[in-house]
Amino acid sequence: MEPLVKLINYTPNPERIIAAAARLCYSDKNGEDLFENLTDSEVEKLVRKIISLGHYSVLEHVSFTFAISGISRVTTHQLVRHRVGCSYSQRSQRYIEEDNFNYIIPPSIQERPELLKKYEETMNQLNSLYEEFAKVVPKEDARFLLPQAIESKIMVTYSLRALLHFLELRTCRRAQWEIQTLAWKMLKEAKKVAPLLFEDAGPGCLRGPCPEGKLSCGDPYFSNGIEL
Ligand SMILES: Cc1cc2nc3c(=O)[nH]c(=O)nc-3n(C[C@H](O)[C@H](O)[C@H](O)COP(=O)(O)OP(=O)(O)OC[C@H]3O[C@@H](n4cnc5c(N)ncnc54)[C@H](O)[C@@H]3O)c2cc1C
Repeated sequence: MEPLVKLINYTPNPERIIAAAARLCYSDKNGEDLFENLTDSEVEKLVRKIISLGHYSVLEHVSFTFAISGISRVTTHQLVRHRVGCSYSQRSQRYIEEDNFNYIIPPSIQERPELLKKYEETMNQLNSLYEEFAKVVPKEDARFLLPQAIESKIMVTYSLRALLHFLELRTCRRAQWEIQTLAWKMLKEAKKVAPLLFEDAGPGCLRGPCPEGKLSCGDPYFSNGIEL
């Protein structure tokens, strides 16, 4: 199962909104004339200026909402560690029965038939136990038997500033494989609708020396096999 990512909403004309906010900072224009003669090349210039200056609070005026499924609770747990400028709604294990649950199989297990067999048997056993317990105890208690591998679904809304920060950390080769794949897919979706805002988005090594220091993978910029 692959992460499924759908960009379901975003601030209309996000690049123009950022450019207008930049204009407000750097000119004496009022609200009503912020968009006056705001040509595409002016938008491009202002967006690049804001990003190159590190004036990132301006990026908080636009947001992106993704509906995500086909990922494990391992990964949703990592996702929700991102706290600032991020909102989440996740499939509930209190209200939804998790019988016959789907689960994620890591590639390293998938490619080892002897481990894969044990893995699948364990998931089936856990499923049977869950079903047995859920008949007697509340779902919120039966769920203690569920594995981290279980598939979850989550909706996330990030301000552009938060999204760029998330992408920097999680597209990095040092990030865990599932959240890394997810992050690249989110970048791909966002870049389709706002290419200028995401032209330099991705791991830190795209914009300068690797921020991971001694832990660096040592490889040049890579795109995790996902064509942007
Ligand atoms: C490769 C990798 C390995 C990781 N390993 C672990 C691990 O072993 N254990 C673990 O617990 N986590 C781990 N994490 C998660 C990591 O510690 C962060 O919780 C997660 O990446 C969210 O990043 P963040 O705090 O920068 O994001 P956000 O929570 O969105 O915060 C954004 C920024 O706001 C500022 N900020 C937020 N809160 C505060 C605050 N309270 N005080 C001051 N400034 C604040 C910081 O500048 C922060 O970068 C790992 C992450 C990565 C990418």
